[in-house]
Amino acid sequence: MGIKVAKFGGSSVADVIQLQKMKEIIYSDPERRYVVVSAPGKRFEGDQKITDLLYLCKTHMENNLPYDQVFQVVVDRYVAVQFNLGVQVDLKKEFEDIKEHLKNDASEDYIASRGEYLNAILIAAFLGFDFVDTEKLIKFDKNGKLLLEETDKAIKDELDKHEKAVLPGFYGSMPDGNIKTFSRGGSDITGSLVARAVGADVYENWTDVSGFLMADPRIVKKPKQIESISYKELRELSYMGASVLHEDAIYPARSANIPINIRNTNRPEDKGTMITATEQPGGKQVIAGIAGSKDFTVIALYKNMMSSERGFVRRILGILDDYNINFEHLPSGIDTVSVVMDNKSIGGRLDDVVEEFKSRLKPDSLDVYENMALIATVGYNMSNKVGTSAKLFTALGNAGVNIRMIDQGSSEMNIIVGVENKDFETAIRAIYDAFVVED
Ligand code: ASP
Repeated sequence: MGIKVAKFGGSSVADVIQLQKMKEIIYSDPERRYVVVSAPGKRFEGDQKITDLLYLCKTHMENNLPYDQVFQVVVDRYVAVQFNLGVQVDLKKEFEDIKEHLKNDASEDYIASRGEYLNAILIAAFLGFDFVDTEKLIKFDKNGKLLLEETDKAIKDELDKHEKAVLPGFYGSMPDGNIKTFSRGGSDITGSLVARAVGADVYENWTDVSGFLMADPRIVKKPKQIESISYKELRELSYMGASVLHEDAIYPARSANIPINIRNTNRPEDKGTMITATEQPGGKQVIAGIAGSKDFTVIALYKNMMSSERGFVRRILGILDDYNINFEHLPSGIDTVSVVMDNKSIGGRLDDVVEEFKSRLKPDSLDVYENMALIATVGYNMSNKVGTSAKLFTALGNAGVNIRMIDQGSSEMNIIVGVENKDFETAIRAIYDAFVVED
């Protein structure tokens, strides 16, 4: 029998109704042996996530404000769920213990982690599974960096002793024993680590959407679902801003060739999106998806005989390094090169950077284009299909979008175009129509 690791996100464990759905999902497949849970999320628009409330407790503590009332809201939610589920666990003892820690100036990470901790205890009792704490299993070094191999071994050794278990997501501990959390949304990473450690056949990530969409539904009306996408394709898309899964959740599963299946707790009949470990082009569609982001700046440099001037690009990179700016792309021609940077990374220092470029590179001309958007069209099948770029550029031309920059990854798996912010939505719709609707 295979093993499936199922991680349930905040909205999937937000209340009793969701927990019942979760139980049905788990019980319908005996291969779902290891379950990783988030803290309870929002039950309705305007509701509070448990994790947010816990962070709020810490903020109150830091400002010497009473935090008891906020903590009581947290307690009440768990108590109500426990009552309605009718499970027997001594949460009272846990609350007392947490309160004791709070009095003794508990760290922010400790407080935030309690949402997952309490929830996993409760859910383990509800499912009749063992509760296995991740505190000692997920290991970070003293700088807070995840120790992958040590973690892998610790989880494996522990879960060997448990036929079925529920584990809290989001946290582990440092060598000094202090709790350390991942960044927000980090229970996805825990799920991936557990899947890797037990050699799961699949890592199921249960959430409130049926997987990834081919484009942002705020821009494209009813975009198609992505049924299957490779890790690499997803990386190209997530990099540009599509987010369903924590970015750091990819590596542990990917490095062990474990596919990740994004599933919808509210629609378990949907197959969701399968993120495949293998990297062959698949599916009929030429593209896997389109993603993009606004607010980039391009500095376009022209210098006669640039191509024979040694060290030109090195000096560009030196300037960026001095200013601690990441560049996104560096498309170049014979005597031209453009530097594409995220506005956030420039952080209001554009004038200084431009001056530096002028004085250190002495270009014949330098143009700055602010308010640029980047759009990535991604898909393995693009690489073996003649005329893909022509189609893309024609679509944009017909939609009246002026393309300011073009960059194609060496894998030919993506084409990135730079357009003005104002054309962003039009461009995405035009590309989607050309490749998905008309194809
Ligand atoms: N509860 C944490 C958060 O809200 C972690 C998670 O849900 O993945 O960020």
